[in-house]
Amino acid sequence: MRVLVSGAAMAGLSAAHWFARHSCDVTVVERAPRIRRGGAPIDVRGAALGTAERMGVLDRIRAERVPPRVPDDVVGPDGAVRARFAVAWFGDESPDDVEITRDRLADTLRAAVGDGARFRFGTEVTGLDQDDTGVTVTTTQGVDRYDLVVGADGLHSSVRRLAFGPEERFVRHLGLYVALVSLDPGRAWRPGMFNAPGRMASIRDDADGPLGMLMFRSPRLGDDRDADAQRRIAGDVLAADDVWEVPALRAAFRAPDSPGFYFDSVAQTRMPAWHRGRVVLLGDAAHCAALLSGMGTSLAMTGAEFLADAVRRSPGDLAAAFADYEARQRPLVRRAQGSVAGNADIMVPATAAALDRRNALLRETAAAVGA
Ligand SMILES: Cc1cc2nc3c(=O)[nH]c(=O)nc-3n(C[C@H](O)[C@H](O)[C@H](O)COP(=O)(O)OP(=O)(O)OC[C@H]3O[C@@H](n4cnc5c(N)ncnc54)[C@H](O)[C@@H]3O)c2cc1C
Repeated sequence: MRVLVSGAAMAGLSAAHWFARHSCDVTVVERAPRIRRGGAPIDVRGAALGTAERMGVLDRIRAERVPPRVPDDVVGPDGAVRARFAVAWFGDESPDDVEITRDRLADTLRAAVGDGARFRFGTEVTGLDQDDTGVTVTTTQGVDRYDLVVGADGLHSSVRRLAFGPEERFVRHLGLYVALVSLDPGRAWRPGMFNAPGRMASIRDDADGPLGMLMFRSPRLGDDRDADAQRRIAGDVLAADDVWEVPALRAAFRAPDSPGFYFDSVAQTRMPAWHRGRVVLLGDAAHCAALLSGMGTSLAMTGAEFLADAVRRSPGDLAAAFADYEARQRPLVRRAQGSVAGNADIMVPATAAALDRRNALLRETAAAVGA
């Protein structure tokens, strides 16, 4: 079976591994010139730990996990330390969960594909034309034909747009944006978290270098994909905050060539079906649970295993295979998508009063856990 996977991140690399293992002829197209680097550490949790074990990568990701986090100082708008914060106090975490940097996990998943797939970087799907026997796929590099197309190309999936319709029908903005930037490792950064009403900035160093994060409340912004405009927006959100490490963080976000820059809306993908004919969606393209869930990577990994396994068992009846994939994956997605309510109020309180209440909650929680 000839399988085209669009997107070479957690979902696409996992899918490439599984389809190659089931003896499919796999091609992966990725819009970026190489596997995209950067991002805050992500969690491999719950059912995804079993998937990682069956992929043969669990020992490696356990060995490369980031050290357990110590609670961070929480700095208020005036620069004073108001409380301490650890994400584990609020997440649905278990001691088996593995937190690992995105780059290390991507390298591990890429190694698990080996030479089982051909990769075409700098390539994007621009047209899909399917009939009963296959899909004619136009990419920026040419035209080819496949038995199955897997859209693993993230929240702003092109495959989804081409096969199912415009993004606005499926992607729900949750009223927040996130920006990330890698920080100068030669400077001594003070780790912690800064909050003012409607915005949060943080600095962490999890072993691969210091990383700055910004989350802020905002209605949907127009075209949020021009990197220069995004850098300006991120810097402007912090324009009035001249305390703690914020001025240096603001400069890092604004720098035109800042490494590891990432900017996106915090959003969920919700769709009544993840397949149409011979085209199927996986990972954030199908069911982004939003960064606040901490579950996006785990869902991408389980979904890839369920999908490839279902297709292996029913290669002649893709509709049945896709129904099987959805039946196994949807309960995990429902739980993850339902888990984000309230997390925004913990991370980014909207008002000064909400910020005071959140800080009081942090102080009570710290006392309760003895931190
Ligand atoms: C650079 C980066 C940083 C991130 N940082 C964080 C973070 O800090 N915290 C967090 O919780 N989540 C983060 N995420 C999202 C997280 O990785 C995903 O939620 C999760 O791992 C599910 O992965 P996915 O493969 O479905 O989607 P994604 O990780 O979004 O990957 C989609 C891939 O498809 C590629 N792509 C997009 N459009 C096309 C196209 N038209 N054609 C071909 N390829 C395309 C993208 O370049 C990307 O490689 C980040 C994603 C990226 C890309």
